[in-house]
Amino acid sequence: MEPPVKLPIYLDHHATTPLDPRVLAAMTPYFTEFFGNAASKIHTFGREAKHAVEAARERIGRAIQARPQDICFTSGATESLNLAIKGLFHAGTEGRQHFITVVTEHPAVLDSFRRIESEGAEVTYLPVDAQGMLDPQQVADAIQPHTKMACVMAANHEIGVLQPLPEIGAICQGRNVLFLTDATQALGKVPLDVQALNVHLLAASAHKLYGPKGVGVLYCRRSHPQVSLLPIIDGGGHERGLRSGTLNVPGIVGFAEAIALSLEAMPAEQARLRELRDGLWQALRAGIPELKLNGHPDHRLAGNLNVCFPGIVNESLMLALAEDIAISAGSACTTTAADPSHVLKALGLFTADVHASVRFGLGRGTNLAQVRYTAAAVIEQVAKLRE
Ligand SMILES: *Cc1c(COP(=O)(O)O)cnc(C)c1O
Repeated sequence: MEPPVKLPIYLDHHATTPLDPRVLAAMTPYFTEFFGNAASKIHTFGREAKHAVEAARERIGRAIQARPQDICFTSGATESLNLAIKGLFHAGTEGRQHFITVVTEHPAVLDSFRRIESEGAEVTYLPVDAQGMLDPQQVADAIQPHTKMACVMAANHEIGVLQPLPEIGAICQGRNVLFLTDATQALGKVPLDVQALNVHLLAASAHKLYGPKGVGVLYCRRSHPQVSLLPIIDGGGHERGLRSGTLNVPGIVGFAEAIALSLEAMPAEQARLRELRDGLWQALRAGIPELKLNGHPDHRLAGNLNVCFPGIVNESLMLALAEDIAISAGSACTTTAADPSHVLKALGLFTADVHASVRFGLGRGTNLAQVRYTAAAVIEQVAKLRE
């Protein structure tokens, strides 16, 4: 007997994830009992909060092989990426400054680069191949004498593609170019070691790995080499002057707990998700003629499945399923079809195929019964929509 499926089913884990109850339990005392301001050094209330923040900084640093003093807390990955990109450009005193990035990056990266471009920065936007992969040689070829930084994401938020960070890091290291990676989708799902990868700057966010919303980190290396950023938010000089503002103590404690839990469960959980994801793909393939996988079949996140169902409009499919199954067109701002995915366009998909694609994001709450229910519902609706 199949266990009954509880509806609705959440398959949008790239957009956000539920807070793990164990993370909530770790956070709770820091709302009520240990509510002090981590910058209040004199009394015990402040010192308790400060102690919790520093313990979290150490745990988060250890998770990516970073020194705790190189971890800066922010409000999320969007802020971390803005700080890294704009902060590096604005700290520059030299004349021309050139940056390299990729067309499939998150809007927080692309829009930050567009902003500094309007202020005089030179930016190269590298293309990807039909499976969403960047060839590291493209980075090498794009480097100029005045190139300051290359920015390549670890895992893509729409198609899950994992970029070849070790190769890109080695190229940047050899050519004296700084390397920023947006690891928001990758942290807790694939191993990340900023030393081994030669990463100088890394952005991540708690709410993508079963932590709270509104807290993120920017890893910014301050020795070998020392990376200097001009802050965006000025004030009391918190976070070594990099990001002023009272620290979100419960959020920071929760972030550290969420990373620890994710890393502990990583090998088993990723294997479990891969099996469920592959099962969903097999079921869809068996039940729907003519469908296409978007992205790379192997180099991608275990919980990601992005599929094109030619002949349908994704919005209609999502609406038909919306009561029972939460899926997405790949980006949080595609609730109207007016803004087709820039990631899928970059793979060379025809516009109609971009609009016929949906993203399934599997996560900790996903089980086999949900996958079977989803496959059956999608097969039924796609057939209806194609009629
Ligand atoms: C979600 C996401 C972001 C933005 O993170 P927030 O913390 O929500 O601001 C940036 N990059 C990627 C790849 C993401 O998936």
